[in-house]
Amino acid sequence: MINPGAGSDSGERSLKFLVGTTDAQKSEAKDQQDLQWHTRGVAARALHLSRGVEKPSGRVTYVVVLEGLSRFNVQELGKRGPYSVARITSLEMTKAELEQVQQDPDFVALSRQFKTTAMELVSVLEQKQKTGGRTKVLLETVPIHKLADIFVASFEMSFEEQLSMLDSVDLKVRLSKATELVDRHLQSIRVAEKITQKVEGQLSKSQKEYLLRQQMRAIKEELGDNDDDEDDVAALERKMQAAGMPSNIWKHAQRELRRLKKMQPQQPGYNSSRVYLELLADLPWEKASEEHELDLKAAKERLDSDHYGLAKVKQRIIEYLAVRKLKPDARGPVLCFVGPPGVGKTSLASSIAAALGRKFVRLSLGGVKDEADIRGHRRTYIGSMPGRLIDGLKRVGVCNPVMLLDEIDKTGSDVRGDPASALLEVLDPEQNKSFNDHYLNVPYDLSKVVFVATANRVQPIPPPLLDRMELIELPGYTQEEKLKIAMRHLIPRVLDQHGLSSEFLKIPEGMVKNIIQRYTREAGVRSLERNLAALARAAAVMVAEHEQTLPLSKDVQKLTSPLLNGRMAEGGEVEMEVIPMGVNDHEIGGTFQSPSALVVDETMLEKILGPPRFDDSEAADRVASAGVSVGLVWTTFGGEVQFVEATSMVGKGEMHLTGQLGDVIKESAQLALTWVRARASDFKLALAGDMNVLDGRDIHIHFPAGAVPKDGPSAGVTLVTALVSLFSQKRVRADTAMTGEMTLRGLVLPVGGIKDKILAAHRYGIKRVILPQRNSKDLVEVPAAVLSSLEVILAKRMEDVLENAFEGGCPWRNNYSKL
Ligand code: ADP
Repeated sequence: MINPGAGSDSGERSLKFLVGTTDAQKSEAKDQQDLQWHTRGVAARALHLSRGVEKPSGRVTYVVVLEGLSRFNVQELGKRGPYSVARITSLEMTKAELEQVQQDPDFVALSRQFKTTAMELVSVLEQKQKTGGRTKVLLETVPIHKLADIFVASFEMSFEEQLSMLDSVDLKVRLSKATELVDRHLQSIRVAEKITQKVEGQLSKSQKEYLLRQQMRAIKEELGDNDDDEDDVAALERKMQAAGMPSNIWKHAQRELRRLKKMQPQQPGYNSSRVYLELLADLPWEKASEEHELDLKAAKERLDSDHYGLAKVKQRIIEYLAVRKLKPDARGPVLCFVGPPGVGKTSLASSIAAALGRKFVRLSLGGVKDEADIRGHRRTYIGSMPGRLIDGLKRVGVCNPVMLLDEIDKTGSDVRGDPASALLEVLDPEQNKSFNDHYLNVPYDLSKVVFVATANRVQPIPPPLLDRMELIELPGYTQEEKLKIAMRHLIPRVLDQHGLSSEFLKIPEGMVKNIIQRYTREAGVRSLERNLAALARAAAVMVAEHEQTLPLSKDVQKLTSPLLNGRMAEGGEVEMEVIPMGVNDHEIGGTFQSPSALVVDETMLEKILGPPRFDDSEAADRVASAGVSVGLVWTTFGGEVQFVEATSMVGKGEMHLTGQLGDVIKESAQLALTWVRARASDFKLALAGDMNVLDGRDIHIHFPAGAVPKDGPSAGVTLVTALVSLFSQKRVRADTAMTGEMTLRGLVLPVGGIKDKILAAHRYGIKRVILPQRNSKDLVEVPAAVLSSLEVILAKRMEDVLENAFEGGCPWRNNYSKL
């Protein structure tokens, strides 16, 4: 008997169709209107009735727990008072009927299928919720026909589906329906899981970021600087306002800022947009070093105090400054210092900046092959950046610095464009008012920048660029000049850089000379400076060590420096034990109370710098046999002494050339051989009666330092001399070096770089130099001190060269005269 109007507000879904709704009036209305009785039902036993908490509205919820017993059929419906009554018949199967069904193979198959599906569902649920142990037990113990009802009752499904399940009195029908429902449930769980996984994957990254941001905010708050992104953008805006951009650029910047404000920090374009705006804000649009009245006298003093010698160069710089003083916006040419490394090009440029009272920035252009290096990449490229010019200006922070374009001769062009053409625009006063950097994308005015350039050589600079520059050559220093530079400038500076003073370390002139002659062989003073720094480092270690040990005991001052020794042992190049000269333990102990300086001497020099690298006897050693001659060549490092070696062996009259030679130098070798062969018969160079010098012989000519590429025509006379020496088996003079191009007719033509070459010969300790006659005009540039230490021989023809290259004159002349 079922009572729909009992005032119960039961939440049991499965009973909905049996139990009416809550309050009496409503249920009565429903009774009459839409409450319909189904023809089947479930007989149940009430196990438990509980009263819920009273709600504020005064309503009370009751919960009835029912145990379903069996399905039944409604035979007849009636009323008794407010209650509905019915006559029913049970639909439960008898035991015999059940046994019969269990024999049915269809039923067996169906129940197996149901069980597997149910099992699957249980294990999925188990994974998810880590429960289900009980459900598994159910699966094994409860009879299958009840199991189907139990399972299905626990799913959420439509009322119609529930009804149809109730109607499935036939066991086979019930099982197949239940299997279907369980399976559907299983699928829906799987799909839901897949979706969650996907969503989780996507969420986790941004969630993580969010979490980190929250943490960061918390940390910042804790630290008291809680400027978050909002504030950042506001700060950026303030900075942009303060940058003083021209109005059109300001408009552009604002547009970009508006875009930025609309973006989330996580959004892809956010960062690049921000970096760009930072650049706009950082660039010195109007910020400039204050221009004060240029004091030429002070400028001259400054140049003199920073640099020794270089009178002509300094004079030219003063002229340049004077013009700027009279006409500040003068568009004079750009100064370009040309010379080997370490001759002071960079430091002269920075002196100019100091004299003008401006900031100094150096852009290294060596190896720049890509136009984008100068002009930047468009912002559409990933990782795009502004070019070096704009970057340099950002670094220096003013719009009127002195900008050094270092190694302007080392830019090359290739498929990625021509940096020289971009530089052309930079250096052209007409165009550089609105320099266009691809990244910046708005014009920048470079006209206030003072450009200075440096180069090692003139030839590689493209002519249009050369046209805009005024070349000032710095040829390299003589030994005497180097000595002065070292004593006056390098040593004080090196000591200062190492926290030492002349009280601690003294490097006497003799030792500096020693370093210049035996440890360095360069046009500039770079490796000289490096060697001096090595001495200072060694001294610094000792001073620092002694400072540490000083408080312990004054007596335990050990002379050898464990730290230093350890380091050298590691490096393994020089075994070293530093013993300050002429000082014993006791004296060193007192050193730091009444400092007596550490004086560098030859032993210390060798210990720190290693054995001497060069000596004057090198030339003599190398020309000890016939077939070797001494040439003078010109490289990016200034002048160099270059030996040429020739030898002959049994062969078929071929010539071999080695030593990384360019085409021009190879042709010179051909020319030299031809000339010597042509003269051979005249002058009896070959063995008696054998007029063909190449008969049955191969010639091999080698230019040592085989790893360094060589080219140029100026080795002509040197090659001929080497061949003549070879054929005549007479040695050339070791104290004589030569340079000059030779024609097929034996005329000696002038060559370049005379000053550098003579300086190089001087460095090598060469005493005589043979030069082309027509180079005599270049001798005025050579410092008098160097010229006076050398004998210069001017040659018009090849014969003149040979006459002077051999002891006692040209060998064939001897032969000739003997005849
Ligand atoms: P470069 O740019 O020509 O390669 P640097 O300007 O870097 O050479 O010079 C190398 C070092 O030698 C610098 O420390 C510089 O001050 C010093 N130097 C070069 N020439 C002189 C000079 N005439 N007087 C004083 N110091 C010099």
